Amino acid sequence: MEKKQKLICDRCKVEMVDKEVQFSYLGKSFRHKVKRCPECGQVYISEELVKGRMSQVEKMLEDK
Ligand SMILES: [Zn+2]
Repeated sequence: MEKKQKLICDRCKVEMVDKEVQFSYLGKSFRHKVKRCPECGQVYISEELVKGRMSQVEKMLEDK
């Protein structure tokens, strides 16, 4: 079951849209879909991204 989450930008009061962006974190870069406001460009970083991809990157670095 997939719940579609709607996010509204606080500033512009418009719905944020999915956008794939490139992140650079601890010297590694990866692409991830985030919610982004089409008006002001503010992105919403989900907890899933922080706990998922970013901890993966940290693990990769620790393994060295
Ligand atoms: Zn906005």
